[in-house]
Amino acid sequence: MATLASDHPLAPVRQAVGDAPLLTDADSLALYSHDVLAKGAEPLAVFRPDSVEALAAGIGAATGAGMAIVPRGGGMSYTGGYLYSGGPFLLVDTAALDRVIEVNETDMTVTVEAGISWDALRRALAPKGLRVMAWGTLSGIRASVGGGMSQNGVFWGAARGTAADSAISFDVVLADGTVMSTGSDFFRPYGPDLTGLFAADCGAFGVKARVTLRLVREASAFAYGSFSFGSHAALLGAMS
Ligand SMILES: Cc1cc2nc3c(=O)[nH]c(=O)nc-3n(C[C@H](O)[C@H](O)[C@H](O)COP(=O)(O)OP(=O)(O)OC[C@H]3O[C@@H](n4cnc5c(N)ncnc54)[C@H](O)[C@@H]3O)c2cc1C
Repeated sequence: MATLASDHPLAPVRQAVGDAPLLTDADSLALYSHDVLAKGAEPLAVFRPDSVEALAAGIGAATGAGMAIVPRGGGMSYTGGYLYSGGPFLLVDTAALDRVIEVNETDMTVTVEAGISWDALRRALAPKGLRVMAWGTLSGIRASVGGGMSQNGVFWGAARGTAADSAISFDVVLADGTVMSTGSDFFRPYGPDLTGLFAADCGAFGVKARVTLRLVREASAFAYGSFSFGSHAALLGAMS
């Protein structure tokens, strides 16, 4: 990245996180101004941190300089969720935050960085005979756990609920760079719990950095059935 004047809006971000996680080349800015369907304005830079500490430092520096930040997961949505045209902004790409932090088979929880794809999480859990309850969207080869939690994605494992139903807690980077932990990291219903506030928020309230999800054991046998119904009402009744 070229040297920036000290009053350039990106200067405080670069000072906080260095050059490495900041993309400013024309191809990257053009690519990241698109979602699957539409195009928005180009960001000032794409910020691609590979640690939660860097994520928090960069967000705090950007908002401190008056710049909007827009989170992005796998980029697989088509509803303008991470497109922005309200002025200079930093596009926060969480894709390098892709680690499985802990698989806890006693509490039956898994904690991941939010940018991990559903596919990578599934592959990490499969050898242990484990999976999360709702295990992602049809786009889950690229779509992230953080994106699924932010849009309440649903597909695989939907009989057990939506993605956000699997969430026990989040670590969220707030606008000023504070990292806030929701919930108890164990069970959701006990005690004050802000997890729901950040579920399905489309990233408006903060950037999910880590997600703890409930684990279930993978089925050891599968069976299939086919049913025929004489009316829509009977079909819908059986489904519900
Ligand atoms: C082929 C295809 C199949 C699909 N199948 C399904 C499906 O089966 N079910 C379904 O529900 N949807 C589906 N979708 C839509 C889309 O893939 C999902 O909504 C998915 O959850 C998006 O996840 P993502 O990581 O790509 O998020 P992105 O598209 O990058 O972002 C989605 C939203 O979440 C926010 N966000 C992302 N990461 C974070 C974070 N860490 N913290 C805070 N906010 C964040 C963004 O700002 C944006 O508002 C499909 C899309 C395609 C193209």
